[in-house]
Amino acid sequence: MKRAAAEAALILKAGRERSLAQRHPWVFSGAIAAQSGTFALGDVVRILAADGKFLAYAYVNPNSQIAARVLTFDDIPVEEAFFRAALQRAFDLRARLPELADTDACRLVAAEADGLPGLIVDRYGDVLVMQVLTAGMERLREDLARWLLEMTGARALVERSDVDVRKKEGLPERVAVLHGDVGDGMVCIREHGRAFWVDVLRGHKTGFYLDQRESRRHVASRAADAEVLNVFSYTGGFGVYAATAGARRVLHLDASADALALAQRNMRENGVNADDTTLQGDAFVLLRKFRDEGRRFDVVVLDPPKFVHSKGQLDRACRGYKDINWLGFQLLRPGGTLYTFSCSGLLSTDLFQKVVFGAALDAGVSARVVARLGQAADHPFALAFPEGEYLKGLAACVG
Ligand code: SAH
Repeated sequence: MKRAAAEAALILKAGRERSLAQRHPWVFSGAIAAQSGTFALGDVVRILAADGKFLAYAYVNPNSQIAARVLTFDDIPVEEAFFRAALQRAFDLRARLPELADTDACRLVAAEADGLPGLIVDRYGDVLVMQVLTAGMERLREDLARWLLEMTGARALVERSDVDVRKKEGLPERVAVLHGDVGDGMVCIREHGRAFWVDVLRGHKTGFYLDQRESRRHVASRAADAEVLNVFSYTGGFGVYAATAGARRVLHLDASADALALAQRNMRENGVNADDTTLQGDAFVLLRKFRDEGRRFDVVVLDPPKFVHSKGQLDRACRGYKDINWLGFQLLRPGGTLYTFSCSGLLSTDLFQKVVFGAALDAGVSARVVARLGQAADHPFALAFPEGEYLKGLAACVG
């Protein structure tokens, strides 16, 4: 474990200790008054209040606006035992979740929520996929890989550190098989009686949208005999749940031919009809075409990619969300249900609901929300770190 000299510390400006006192794990560069001692990128240092009081241990990145991320608010050694204990706590939480009783795939470590900022670990059967987001965690990656393999007994470990946020940390993208053999990268997982092929080397995120697990079940609960349009389908998660729950017809719509090919494979893997169940193209264009042709559905799922990457994009993103929801509402039969999601952390639950409301108004429908949906239980967020709640969804019935 790389650690700066014991005296290395960041000293905050007077009054700027408040958020840390509330256990928020980020130290912004603007809150720092001075530093003592020397340290390198990613080192663990002490964070001190203006009066010298100990606040936390955090790892630093002087080049980032988030200059330090807290590992612990306790004055204890941040060494191997510390990290093993944090990993074990994260695993234990998942072991207690009844939602995970019927699956072999889940998020084992969810960064800040599990006290390990910058680290994501997902399990796909006996394959682990690790994502390292920050310079602090980058320093630990070899140790982390070893501890993870030892503690889980997994047969393989893949690193999928091919994410944009690493640029802000000054880190290159990296995809590598760190242990074991994953062949072409295709791993078959099971979830609530269904099977899914996951591409752990090239798939989105670490391969699969594990965070939508609970919402997939919700869609399945409304799918019997329904005609279902799964927009932004990716590899077919919602559609496979709907088809196996007795949907009359499922149509997956996505811009990516590769994603749709995998959606078809997943349909077949689950023994449901995969013929004519995919349509490739731009959702904004195809939904307009459907509307104009008078095509209607009983269930429409809208799970678009993240539209908001920075605060400056919020207005434009809201217009995008409104447009797609406006179209979605118009494609529903009376009595139908719109499942609509946003995975943009910067768009609040409140604002998202307002956007969907505006879309319903403009579509001329009165919609009633029958469920609020969000990220699955293995993607928790800390009350002290509400920024960790990124996925929000509504199930809204019309007519
Ligand atoms: N609902 C999926 C996850 C969606 S990810 C699941 O549960 O697994 C977002 C998807 O939107 C990606 O597959 C991407 O290819 C697709 N996409 C992005 N922009 C699009 C557009 N304009 N039209 C259609 N699909 C688009």
